[in-house]
Amino acid sequence: MHDDLRHDWTHEQIREIYQTPLMDLVFRAAETHRRHHDAAEVQVCKLVSVKTGGCPEDCKYCSQSVRYSTDVDATPLMDVSEVVETAKRAKANGVTRVCLGAAWRSVKDNGQFDQVLDMVRDVTELGVEVCCTLGMLTPEQAGRLENAGLYAYNHNVDTSNEYYDQIITTRKYADRLQTIANVRKTNVTVCTGGIIGLGETDDDRISMLQTLATLTPHPDSVPINVLSKVPGTPLANAADVSVFDTVRMIATTRIVMPKSVVRLSAGRAKMSASDQALCFMAGANSIFSSEAKIMLTKAVPSQSYDEDKALLHQLGLKIRPPFKNAAMRSADASADAVAIDTVAAEPTATV
Ligand code: SAM
Ligand code: SF4
Repeated sequence: MHDDLRHDWTHEQIREIYQTPLMDLVFRAAETHRRHHDAAEVQVCKLVSVKTGGCPEDCKYCSQSVRYSTDVDATPLMDVSEVVETAKRAKANGVTRVCLGAAWRSVKDNGQFDQVLDMVRDVTELGVEVCCTLGMLTPEQAGRLENAGLYAYNHNVDTSNEYYDQIITTRKYADRLQTIANVRKTNVTVCTGGIIGLGETDDDRISMLQTLATLTPHPDSVPINVLSKVPGTPLANAADVSVFDTVRMIATTRIVMPKSVVRLSAGRAKMSASDQALCFMAGANSIFSSEAKIMLTKAVPSQSYDEDKALLHQLGLKIRPPFKNAAMRSADASADAVAIDTVAAEPTATV
């Protein structure tokens, strides 16, 4: 196998890739993708916001910050049973990774964390990958999540180190990297990526990718979000991101982190089928789907399970099985892909 896995990327080298004419860039990314992944597979993920809103942080894009007046209300932590029922319906619709998200600055050692640990145990028992995104973690808390069976922890760096203080002032970039390092002390896999459309420059995007692509090992998965503009937040009127910028970002991510799962995340709801197909060609191999078309909160939408089943079927794509992170940790790479036609029809119930 052509070995293109490296961790010494310079800013200039990544910029050269990022600035390649688009068709050449997509072609190269597609080749890289095929060397390291089954390009016929896309992982379908479901994000469950187990604790929505009321967050003290000031992330300028976020519908859940208490500092902005958005139409997302704060809700209490969900019951474990409700989370498990949501996960069961997700699995029945082809989902192989369930992400549990909480609008917290950091995890506190209290009954709520115990309740999230119960969610991790019970959803893991369903046979899907469980990812948590709960804010900052200590090494001890990462260890408790590992002991509960957690497969992945998401903690996005969001943008470049240079631009970070224009987006978030209530924590530092170094805090994000520290939590990622704390997760890396365990066997829990790391999911970290960012958002485009925050007003950043191309060099900020490249700098963010350099931060991620010089981690050793690379993050097991890298979400690329396009800003969902949330009324009431400081970025409500940010400039649109062209689909070709999104494709360029995905292709560059694929080339510099060839084995990572690249997740086409927020912003997909606005994309046409052909836009999404171009993203898959450029190396995206994961999407977020939902019965109620809510990716994170109602301000950050997704497609429905049925729409995504139809899309993947049209494109001849299969659902990537769980626990198949070829490169990274002790994953079960032998599981078979889930054929779209074997996935049950979506139940009518909504979350
Ligand atoms: N509080 C936790 C944290 O910040 O890590 C988890 C909450 S949330 C799932 C975290 C991620 O969702 C953010 O880092 C960001 O990348 C993404 N996100 C949130 N709001 C978004 C929006 N309006 N548009 C695009 N991405 C968004
Ligand atoms: Fe809070 Fe996370 Fe939203 Fe930032 S992104 S305001 S930390 S929920």
